[in-house]
Amino acid sequence: MSSADGATTAAPRQEKPRIGVSSCLLGEKVRYDGGHRADRWLTDVLGPHVEFVPVCPEVGCGLPAPREAMRLTGDPVDPRLVTIWMGIDHTARMERFCRRALVELQRANLCGFVFKANSPSCGMERVKVYGQGSAPARSGVGIFARALMQRLPLLPVEEEGRLQDARIRENFLERVFVMHRWRGLLARGRSRRRLAEFHADHKLVLMAHGAAPLGEMGRLVTQVKDLSLPETFRRYLERLMRALRQTATVKRHTHVLWHVFSHFERDLTPDERQELIEVIDSYRRERVPLSVPITLVNHFVQKFRCPYLARQAYLNPHPLDLKLRNHV
Ligand code: SF4
Repeated sequence: MSSADGATTAAPRQEKPRIGVSSCLLGEKVRYDGGHRADRWLTDVLGPHVEFVPVCPEVGCGLPAPREAMRLTGDPVDPRLVTIWMGIDHTARMERFCRRALVELQRANLCGFVFKANSPSCGMERVKVYGQGSAPARSGVGIFARALMQRLPLLPVEEEGRLQDARIRENFLERVFVMHRWRGLLARGRSRRRLAEFHADHKLVLMAHGAAPLGEMGRLVTQVKDLSLPETFRRYLERLMRALRQTATVKRHTHVLWHVFSHFERDLTPDERQELIEVIDSYRRERVPLSVPITLVNHFVQKFRCPYLARQAYLNPHPLDLKLRNHV
């Protein structure tokens, strides 16, 4: 994301979303103890659908594996990266690495980043910071993670531990694939017509995250003519990624499903109508996962060839193999 709307110079369209990842999570033996923390969901389930860009900041900044373990010390807002036994301060070395690496990561057109939790380099939140007191404050951010999030504030980011939660996982991957489609839009070239099409494709996605951003972004696309194209794109992406950070609730998904229902209600036979009503209601009561009403809706969208619904990213937001909506 070298410009504020996520564009890099003449970026070609990527086949798969490119996701940065703390390399120990992919099984690389880069940890301080010479081991790894391979995450099987990342490597075996998500791996076939994305292109990983592995990064180990500690090895990247020139330290060996194995090495002396480190921790954050001092001010939680601006901590130092210091080895536990020898007290060697590696902060400056890490900051130099971050400056170099972030230039390359920006050029890589990432669609997301998965950090290793609790690491003084990679932890995204709640990393221990040791001060004068006996108990460490759990309010730190790893030095590399902080630098990356400051440089690419709109990039979807998560930690591997948080991705165990089905809703967080679904939300993260939804944002990753939205970012991937956004990059496809930029690769084709900016135009108001293309932005309007992108917005039309994502109406139901946005609706699932709240009505307010949908209206605001619709106005940005259709009514604001005095903004330059790059500024319009920048504002759109900023609002889009901010809106999608809000996890879509069962209540909001149910609202979207009723909205979809209203589009082909009159085409349904009485039995089909009853079936869809019951399935949506079962989802509302959390007796079935979201994948159940979505599968039925997709069947009717195919059957009735509804163009407005057929284009909606909401009905196919990420690869089915990931089974993300089987658990939300
Ligand atoms: S947590 Fe980050 S710095 Fe530590 S081994 Fe993994 S990738 Fe390297």
